[in-house]
Amino acid sequence: MRYVKISRENTYMFLERLKDLGTLHAPQNISEKYYDFVEVDDVHSVIFEYNRTVRPPRRFFYPEKETMFKFNMEEVEEYPVEIQSERVILFGVHSCDIVGLRIIDATFLDEQPDPMYKKHRENGIIIGISCLPDEYCFCNVRRVEIVDAGFDLFFHEISDGFLVRVRSITGHKLIEPNLDLFEEEISKEDTDYIAEFEVKRRSMFSIQGNWDDLRYHLEWNMDHPMYVRESEKCLGCGNCTTTCPTCRCYDVKDIPNLDGKTGERVRFWDSCQFRTHGLVAGGHNFRPTKKDRFFNRYHCKNAYCQEVTTSYCVGCGRCTYFCPAEINFKQNLLEVRGEA
Ligand code: SF4
Ligand code: SF4
Repeated sequence: MRYVKISRENTYMFLERLKDLGTLHAPQNISEKYYDFVEVDDVHSVIFEYNRTVRPPRRFFYPEKETMFKFNMEEVEEYPVEIQSERVILFGVHSCDIVGLRIIDATFLDEQPDPMYKKHRENGIIIGISCLPDEYCFCNVRRVEIVDAGFDLFFHEISDGFLVRVRSITGHKLIEPNLDLFEEEISKEDTDYIAEFEVKRRSMFSIQGNWDDLRYHLEWNMDHPMYVRESEKCLGCGNCTTTCPTCRCYDVKDIPNLDGKTGERVRFWDSCQFRTHGLVAGGHNFRPTKKDRFFNRYHCKNAYCQEVTTSYCVGCGRCTYFCPAEINFKQNLLEVRGEA
């Protein structure tokens, strides 16, 4: 892998140049407490150290709402819409969110690639950044705290700037014309800084070890009292799924125009925490109770993923951080594991 180095001041200049290549989004304050990926106007408003964004990066490639096709019932025809997609550059993506995107890829690109997602993804540039955990993070036990694929460039904090890992051909193409901003000489001091940073980072996680066996604990404890107790607190608001970087459930709706003949089919995010998620024709609901829906999320994230990965949860902590009922996902899983 190629490594280069950049100072903090030159990073701002690099961001300014990235704006010429597409729409640059990066973490910025959207309130005193919250961050989100926002289109960059002033590069000095980009935040390099943040805990988590409100919305996950998947929304740039799998938008909250998107038209699939338009229809005309008289002609019994479907009109494919031209997929509107622009070059999106995401700067400052954490490791967990990069792995989250790869989980979404497995849904939308394997076997029958989804044309809309594919086009958005091909237009995307991902630039990662290193981070330190807070008490909500547990990406370490999901073993995604260091990522080796799924990004074009990755910025690691060093004492006077960033050491940059160049991962893809696109990444090389971003560096080459901007070599005046980068140094190609990497010192022992730089790599020592990263090694020490990683030791410090590992020690900061509130839990240690790995949870590769979590699905078995869930399977062995299907009737654990945690499900009833915690689902009684749940408001069914769907914040946990909307903010999750790996949730991918959607619904489709036909929206007719006022002429009663034409319209469009729209795909939009759904949530397994909504009562209607399991509701099918004829009025049957596969998950009629809040407990059924609560149980489903815990198992979907941690036990229904054998074919793709050890976990559909990357330990970002959003579902706890943004839960208005203060339901603690990590703590509840520890309880099921008998480690609370
Ligand atoms: S965010 Fe909390 S309250 Fe809302 S659906 Fe999820 S678990 Fe329930
Ligand atoms: S389940 Fe919760 S902690 Fe895991 S990836 Fe989703 S939001 Fe993050």
